[in-house]
Amino acid sequence: DATALRQLLTSLDGRSYGSYKQLKGSYDLGPCRLLIDHVQVDPYAPPSLMRLVVDRDAAGIPEDLLADRRGTVATTDFLARALVHAAAPLEGRLSIGAPAQEVLERTTVAVTSHGIEARLAAELPASGRRIRGRQASHLLTEELPRLAEAALSHARLDAEALRAHVTLHRDQEALRDQLAERGLVAFVGEGAILPRRAGDSDLPLSEGAVPFASPASLRVSFDLPSGRRVSGMGVPDGVTVIVGGGYHGKSTLLRAIERGVYPHREGDGREWVLTRADVAAVRAEDGRSVAGVDISPFISGLPSGTDTRRFSTTNASGSTSQAASLVEAVDAGASALLIDEDTSATNFMLRDARMRALIPAEREPITPFVDRVRPLHTERGVSTVLVAGGSGAFFDVADHVIALDEYVPRDVTAQARALADAPPPPGEAVFAPPRPRHPAAGALRPTGKRRPAAARGRGSIRFGHESLDLAAVSQLVDAAQTQAIAHALDRLAELTEHSPHLALDAAIAALCDRMDAEGLETLSPHHGHPGHLARPRPLELHAAVNRYRRLRLAE
Ligand code: ADP
Ligand code: MG
Repeated sequence: DATALRQLLTSLDGRSYGSYKQLKGSYDLGPCRLLIDHVQVDPYAPPSLMRLVVDRDAAGIPEDLLADRRGTVATTDFLARALVHAAAPLEGRLSIGAPAQEVLERTTVAVTSHGIEARLAAELPASGRRIRGRQASHLLTEELPRLAEAALSHARLDAEALRAHVTLHRDQEALRDQLAERGLVAFVGEGAILPRRAGDSDLPLSEGAVPFASPASLRVSFDLPSGRRVSGMGVPDGVTVIVGGGYHGKSTLLRAIERGVYPHREGDGREWVLTRADVAAVRAEDGRSVAGVDISPFISGLPSGTDTRRFSTTNASGSTSQAASLVEAVDAGASALLIDEDTSATNFMLRDARMRALIPAEREPITPFVDRVRPLHTERGVSTVLVAGGSGAFFDVADHVIALDEYVPRDVTAQARALADAPPPPGEAVFAPPRPRHPAAGALRPTGKRRPAAARGRGSIRFGHESLDLAAVSQLVDAAQTQAIAHALDRLAELTEHSPHLALDAAIAALCDRMDAEGLETLSPHHGHPGHLARPRPLELHAAVNRYRRLRLAE
């Protein structure tokens, strides 16, 4: 108990840091139990991992809030935020895996059969390489129980706020559930605040933001489980083009739709921007590697004679990278694509009449996206939402054109149609059905010493000796998701090694099923404290595997 722990720590005071390892174990601290799962070997190693467990009764979470997965995700998100708030005075010594604007399934707080469990990482205090026992005792036997009481106890629980948090989450996901059957890619609610405070901040713009106002012709409304009714703009299936002058808010709208695959917290401004869960943003990313992707609908007849039905490169160009990312997303199950001119390769998107006259089609390996966006919808059922302020070429193939004028959207489909040529008649099918890709033996085995793959921030993973660059994967939003993907890569390496017949998409699907059945922690190699993970979408798992530079496919 607390007294024993206090005595142990006092006796360790001044001893060498390694003696901290005796702390591993379980302690009853009154309001909570403390489980110390992993002790750092020295003061500079990654922090020690511990858990605080509070009885279900003491936490007093109403059972109906935990009745479904959505309720549990929202409740544990709420508790994680409470924990972050209560831990503010311990800034720098404790890390919690803090949620940002999105409400994600994460491992920070879990509801287990024992109770409510908070997972923390703490720096055990040292001076030089010596233990500071009294300080450690203060942290573990006083600060942590205070934290548990402040964030996880019935007495301090703001039950009303918790219920509102869960209700919002359930309503958001219920709206998302309805999008596909209503033929919508996304929904942008009336009054939503889309712009962010700064390029490096995900907080809402606080001054001068123009609230979203939907055009009447695209207005839809939803009745939600709580009884709430919300209205706003429905972005229909098919091909939707967003136009408008520079700086009139096109990219901001598309970015919000991109992020709408995740639910946002109250006060974010994007609470009612919701996108089907399987919608993928696609951009150019020159320099990335590509392994065995059929980009022939877009690129064929390369001067080198390379077969683009099974295209591989270690250094893709702007257009080939965008073609590969697009095909990968579609093969991974994306039901719609989001594309912004700002991050696209111009020659991938379109070719104007003069260029078509000067360079005959048979001399040009690229068939631009403007010629493929309709077949993509008719043959594969994949919709596109596209920002194109610089060219009217997409008018010919658009089902809807939305113009932004000083951040206010208008439906200009009729005007754009009047300017457009007739769409080209459908030709022969160009998109082959997806072909399962089998990794070559050992192709996913990390190089070098076997140590667990690890995220380095949101945009990068160390996998063996390789560094996997995910900076351009824009719907990967949280470093804890990246860490989950890092573990997933290790699990995929094991899976494909044990079952060599398993194709990549089947292996990823199996892993996702396992997460559904056993929770996110199933990815973690550790027992007890799983680390701070947040759930990635299958699309981002695919994106990561597809960017692994040593990925090779079996012949
Ligand atoms: P575009 O892609 O049309 O060139 P952006 O979407 O990049 O324009 O937006 C330009 C600027 O306007 C950005 O700084 C953005 O934050 C801001 N902005 C976008 N939408 C709004 C809005 N609804 N209210 C206020 N500012 C906005
Ligand atoms: Mg833009």
